[in-house]
Amino acid sequence: MSVLVYIEAQNGKLRKASHELAYYAVKSAAILGLDCCGVVVGDCADIQDLGQYGLTQVEQLAPNANGDNMTIAAAVAGVAQAKSASLVIFGHNSIGKSLLPSVAVKLSAGTLSGVNSLPSTDNGFTISKTVFSGKAIATYEMHTPVKVISLMGNSVKPESSEVENVTINNSDIQIADGTIKVIETRREDGTVPLPEAELVVSAGRGMKAPDNWPIIDELAEVLGATTACSRPVADIGWRPHHEHVGQTGVAIRPNLYIAIGISGAIQHLAGVNSSKTIVVINKDPEAPFFKAADYGVCADLFDVVPKLTAALRKFKEN
Ligand SMILES: Cc1cc2nc3c(=O)[nH]c(=O)nc-3n(C[C@H](O)[C@H](O)[C@H](O)COP(=O)(O)OP(=O)(O)OC[C@H]3O[C@@H](n4cnc5c(N)ncnc54)[C@H](O)[C@@H]3O)c2cc1C
Repeated sequence: MSVLVYIEAQNGKLRKASHELAYYAVKSAAILGLDCCGVVVGDCADIQDLGQYGLTQVEQLAPNANGDNMTIAAAVAGVAQAKSASLVIFGHNSIGKSLLPSVAVKLSAGTLSGVNSLPSTDNGFTISKTVFSGKAIATYEMHTPVKVISLMGNSVKPESSEVENVTINNSDIQIADGTIKVIETRREDGTVPLPEAELVVSAGRGMKAPDNWPIIDELAEVLGATTACSRPVADIGWRPHHEHVGQTGVAIRPNLYIAIGISGAIQHLAGVNSSKTIVVINKDPEAPFFKAADYGVCADLFDVVPKLTAALRKFKEN
């Protein structure tokens, strides 16, 4: 029996999430007393980097340009069966969300998405995730022989130990041709994707107009943060839809979330409430976001944000 973790690669290199996933999988395997193995699609130049977390085996699937998520899932399920995996782990992001259900069905597995704790064996197999917009933690018992879970980003901080050599095995399992044809892929380059971001600067309708966004971009740039926005701002086309966070957008868990000119409606909080530190800038002292904030600045954002950026720039220069 083993733990299998899906290693995410893009353009022949590890995605940031893969470090946390490898670390989490090795730790989970140690708790469960099982071996740990990774599975990756295609070549990955820096896969040896995962040896620093104790991951020593990776099954490599040959990519198929005509494959789709269903056939990739079938191949991953095949690897899970070949490895007698009793726990399969994905990242809780668009890749994991598209593969997890199909893999779970093929393995007749129980599933839990968006976990943020290591499993415990004190009382069967239990594992936790946040619920009710991050206001509570639910602990689930999983009873199926095979379990498929996804890990919320930034749930564990990968710590390196003794560097081990990663053995890569070219899997005999093939990714079959799929029925879905991808006509075009458009990727946003340059910034850390929101689910992986540790620092996020987010803004809402308090910005008044899209032309005012440079002050947000400047603050994000000086911090090295990824930008996000509330839903109405994306709906009216002020910002691209991939920046929309919340119940109907991306759910994130950064170390720092700065919310600027956002009221803090429950649907927005649902996606950001698990952030480790929340800073709110809003001119309305009654804005609901202040209740969820660790730090609040009750002031006009057009006054505060440029001053904050200037102070951070000065701090970085010294
Ligand atoms: C089913 C459903 C799903 C939804 N899903 C989401 C979701 O996923 N994500 C999401 O964000 N929303 C979602 N919403 C919408 C949500 O209910 C709110 O309407 C939305 O979050 C409000 O966006 P906002 O805070 O940017 O705008 P507003 O509510 O208009 O708030 C603007 C804030 O800016 C402040 N402000 C204005 N001027 C300034 C200034 N000069 N300086 C400082 N502060 C200022 C105001 O005090 C106010 O608090 C959903 C709604 C529904 C019904």
